Amino acid sequence: QSQDRVFNFAAGPATLPENVLRKAQSELYDWRGCGMSVMEMSHRGKEFLSIIQKAEADLRTLLDIPEEYAVLFLQGGATTQFAAIPLNLVNPDDPVDYLVTGSWGDKAFKEAQKYSKAKVIWSGKSEKYTKIPSFDALEQSPDAKYLHICANETIHGVEFKDYPTPKNPNGVLIADMSSNFCSKPVDVSKFGVIYAGAQKNVGPAGVTIVIIRKDLIGNVQGVTPVMLDYKIQSENNSLYNTPPCFCIYMCGLVFEDLLEQGGLKEVEKKNKKKAEILYNAIDESNGFYRCPVEKSVRSLMNVPFTLEKSELEAEFIKEAAKEKMVQLKGHRSVGGMRASIYNAMPLAGVEKLEAFMKDFQVRHA
Ligand code: PLP
Repeated sequence: QSQDRVFNFAAGPATLPENVLRKAQSELYDWRGCGMSVMEMSHRGKEFLSIIQKAEADLRTLLDIPEEYAVLFLQGGATTQFAAIPLNLVNPDDPVDYLVTGSWGDKAFKEAQKYSKAKVIWSGKSEKYTKIPSFDALEQSPDAKYLHICANETIHGVEFKDYPTPKNPNGVLIADMSSNFCSKPVDVSKFGVIYAGAQKNVGPAGVTIVIIRKDLIGNVQGVTPVMLDYKIQSENNSLYNTPPCFCIYMCGLVFEDLLEQGGLKEVEKKNKKKAEILYNAIDESNGFYRCPVEKSVRSLMNVPFTLEKSELEAEFIKEAAKEKMVQLKGHRSVGGMRASIYNAMPLAGVEKLEAFMKDFQVRHA
């Protein structure tokens, strides 16, 4: 990484690969000889069509997305999908289940309550969202139209390593993958819908990716705004209205980069290595640093930790920032620290943080 860049541990918007930023910079004024920036071109012109089609094709290759699934590039963030999911998939009287392993799953549930008979079948709230339950013990509603999970809880650092199967044979599994999208291979065929805001692992804020099994499209509730209707969006190849063109272009550059790295198996190896370094530093600190999350479900993407001497936390964050490691403050709802180490965080950034943690401990133990 260049000297003039910081190591940015933000949870999102988050760091992007330097080579991707440089490529975008080199194409900014004149995209591949067309005399325009991507920001200036018509979303219906041949240049932009080639960009969105290539982005979709590369994403399909990366995640090995089956033909029976549609890929949509939408707006409104993952938060908009909290409403779009029930509006598109069920009727207001239909039962749906939510497995709540953190604040984002809880927000998704609260939104779904407006448009369905949503039920929380398990919540980790009383244990401060540090666990994922055993799937056998889940009391799923037998007729739930879907089971919703948040695959990686960004604030609490809790990540599903395996996925539950809906009890209802006609029900589907739905996952908010905002903060671990494209961080590892995923068997898309296990899911009815996967959705993710781009601004953590795959691009800038402004585009949300929805991967949906095509047979689930087309049963929208009557009151649904046209922009949230998956049928309209998929029939129009995400071009019903003006899409977030530049964001889609940036995601396309990230997808190319991930393919060049050897695909998601290789990316996962790197992510495991980075996470292991930080969790080891925490676990081997004799309690100086603590991570409250149960070991088997610790996130590869967001590493939350606290200091035994909590009065030192502000100092930790300040000193780290002086050494060009920024955005280490935990989410305002939980405090402490959080190191978000998405795909684009270089190993060097994690090693530098590890060395800093050890040095800080020596100085303050
Ligand atoms: N879901 C998860 C897991 C998130 O981490 C976030 C944002 O941080 C959201 C949903 C909300 O995303 P957006 O801000 O794109 O609406």
